[in-house]
Amino acid sequence: LSNSLATMDVATSLHPYTDARAFEATGPLIMDRGDGIYVYDSSGKQYIEALAGLWSVAVGFSEKRLLSAAMQQMEKLPYYHIFAGKSHEPSIRLSDKLVEIADDQRLSRVFYTNSGSEANDTIIKLVWFMNNALGRPQKKTFLARNKAYHGITIGAGSLTGLPNNHRDFDLPAIPVVHLTCPHYYRFGIDGESEAEFTQRLLVEAEHTILQKGPETIAAFIGEPVMAAGGVLLPPEGYWPGIEALCRKYDILLVADEVITGFGRLGTSFGYKKFGFSPDIVTVSKQITSSYMPLGAVLFGERIYNAVADNSHKIGTFGHGYTGSAHPVATAVALENLKIIEERDLIGNAAKLQDQFQDRLSQLAELPFVGEVRGVGLICAVELVADKASKRPFSKPGRVGTLAMQIGHEQGLIFRSIGDTLALCPPLIVTEDQISEIVARMHRVLTLTVAQIKA
Ligand code: PLP
Repeated sequence: LSNSLATMDVATSLHPYTDARAFEATGPLIMDRGDGIYVYDSSGKQYIEALAGLWSVAVGFSEKRLLSAAMQQMEKLPYYHIFAGKSHEPSIRLSDKLVEIADDQRLSRVFYTNSGSEANDTIIKLVWFMNNALGRPQKKTFLARNKAYHGITIGAGSLTGLPNNHRDFDLPAIPVVHLTCPHYYRFGIDGESEAEFTQRLLVEAEHTILQKGPETIAAFIGEPVMAAGGVLLPPEGYWPGIEALCRKYDILLVADEVITGFGRLGTSFGYKKFGFSPDIVTVSKQITSSYMPLGAVLFGERIYNAVADNSHKIGTFGHGYTGSAHPVATAVALENLKIIEERDLIGNAAKLQDQFQDRLSQLAELPFVGEVRGVGLICAVELVADKASKRPFSKPGRVGTLAMQIGHEQGLIFRSIGDTLALCPPLIVTEDQISEIVARMHRVLTLTVAQIKA
């Protein structure tokens, strides 16, 4: 059966972010079922899903309460929308819950989407609509960062800071400036301290704002920790510095919490970990543990009132999706957030982060391991050709792909981002399971290193 499925897959599909010709040769790894932090392929082989799917399955792969929540909502009202005066209970209750979790007077309103990309598309429109309403239509430019990942639609993809992606799709399609990636290990200059690095980035941001004119800069968007870019942690003082610039020049501060939201860093949101207070927050992924597609934008009364006034006088905020606030997705999100709360999964992340980070950081002693970095329950191991000079491998991504393949053989799923290996296990992970993840990662690295040398 699985062979015929594999043949059908190769014959009929184009997979996201997949080298299609290589895929034709190898075929898919077909996943069949899940159980806690484990998934099983169609041959019955077990894997630890140490990336939580796509950084998103907080409650693990077999949470029956989410199944019941979906079934009950399917039975009662399988679909409705919230356009033009309509609403429904799960959407209302979820908005209330999100505002409660955000626990910040700046974040009192919610707008729903189907995905993280759509949430970030939505904020572009929200901010532009607001500035049009306030009579400053020239305030349109976004500040983002190189290596940022904000999604892949035309708008969100413009905010994303991946040069190859921009080249391939003629982006950016909106006015955006990408600032230096705040990763000290890679972008700190020789001899520069971390504090000096932070200062340099803040000066760069301010120069950019002044050069373009503050009256043209609408918002700054950033992931509290840049995940898909390679789990890149901001240097000390970076976020408070960026927040101060945003306040000084009346620039909205957007936290993309699509990965960091709902406990990944051991706090409900990443902005709480790094001590800043955004005007807008985008979420998705862990909001439903990815059992259903759902995204959301949180924002406050200043934006709401400008949009509401403009909608009233000139025309409604003409934006939204058929699936915005889908009743089944919002019902599943509510139950998922209840589980996170009842089982204190955010507390679990906070409790286990030292064990997770300390044990993984010991891998830095292995050859070719340049940097091990992380916070909460997200971590990355960057492999380099030369540890002393941090020189990358001459063919970027080859070693990372090899490590991922060896990972599959060893029953460990993680993500290779170039030659960086990212880990982000479900938040239900236990101490023993962390030990097992680290042991398997050690094995994977040892086997990978042996092949580099061979
Ligand atoms: N923002 C961040 C920080 C992400 O990591 C992602 C996806 O990985 C997105 C946005 C896009 O979300 P989606 O894939 O649901 O469109």
